[in-house]
Amino acid sequence: MGNLEIYVLLLLAVIAGWLLGRFGGRKLSRPRKSGTDVQDIFRDYFVGLNYLLNDEPDEAIDTFIRALEVDSETIETHLALGSLLRRRGKVDKAIKVHQTLLARPGLDNSFSDSTRIQLSLDYIAAGLLDRAERLLKEILEDDRASKWEALRHLITIYQTEKEWEQAVEYSQRLLANPVSRRDGRTLSVAAHYCCELAVAAMQEQQSGKARQYIKRAFGFDRKHTRASLVLATLEQKLGNYQQAIKELLRARSTRPDYTPLVIQPLHDCHEQLGIMRELESLLARMHQESPHPELVLALTRLKRESQGPEAAFDFLSSQLAQHASLEGVKELLKLKMGTLDAQSDTGLQAVPHILDALQNQRAAHQCTHCGYESRSLYWLCPSCQQWDTMRPRVEKVI
Ligand SMILES: [Zn+2]
Repeated sequence: MGNLEIYVLLLLAVIAGWLLGRFGGRKLSRPRKSGTDVQDIFRDYFVGLNYLLNDEPDEAIDTFIRALEVDSETIETHLALGSLLRRRGKVDKAIKVHQTLLARPGLDNSFSDSTRIQLSLDYIAAGLLDRAERLLKEILEDDRASKWEALRHLITIYQTEKEWEQAVEYSQRLLANPVSRRDGRTLSVAAHYCCELAVAAMQEQQSGKARQYIKRAFGFDRKHTRASLVLATLEQKLGNYQQAIKELLRARSTRPDYTPLVIQPLHDCHEQLGIMRELESLLARMHQESPHPELVLALTRLKRESQGPEAAFDFLSSQLAQHASLEGVKELLKLKMGTLDAQSDTGLQAVPHILDALQNQRAAHQCTHCGYESRSLYWLCPSCQQWDTMRPRVEKVI
């Protein structure tokens, strides 16, 4: 948040809060402020304003909080100032503000819930996840409308702590809300939690358990790409190669941009079944339906094995104009040099290595949400903590 935004927000919040406190509270039966009190508020208000003008927003926030009496009309201003403190990294102060608010007797239910949610966000920001979890669970016990927001924050905590069972359980509770049920993201994320559990079960050689988790993932989202890919891995591991191929094709049909992820396992399954010829026609069909530079490369390698380097070269050079890639150019050079006799010195022997070096500098995956780049694919972006936002990168022809 820029400084200007902070000033505007602070000024609006404080002026609104102060005016409400000054003129809007007459219907309440609390005693009117005495002349001295009003002077104090004015003095604090101008001290705060002075801090703001001197570019000291944190001191300004402190002064405003001191100046504003906590009552039903200024509580929202306090909440806004508290969350502003947290966002500026002053988590200790934010916790103090919210704890003070919460300690007030007779706090209206909705304000008490908002304050507890704000306080739990302070705890999360401070890394005190246990405390945040306790507070959010208290809100759930009261079973009011704010429980949905509490559930969302609880799920985030379990995701951070990689407590996937809990994350699934609370997602299930959140999905009792029709709004969340209609929102595909909640369903897809819940399916990811099941996939995490399935992958862990597979690592412990518990195939039956893994299958159950995958089934649960499909229960949340029956077109979940990752669930198909995890199931394909499981089937392949168990030697059910035809089933694995079916799942790989299903994953690819829902997400053609994940083509690079399915080519190698498709290759391995066909090899195990001894049906490599079928692989070539399958990949050719896939390429026809939705072309991909990785398919061009895979087909080139298959053609080299089945028909020799010349046929592979012809195929690749005919494809490169439309589906260019650095990897493709490298392969083309290698094929050409492979067809020349060993004596002819083209002076180009170093080029594939140079292209390799260039390629190693590039990340293979990128997050479409925050731009984070990495060589391996993460289903949960390590930078922005969003699911399903990392994509295999496709080289664009300039
Ligand atoms: Zn990201």
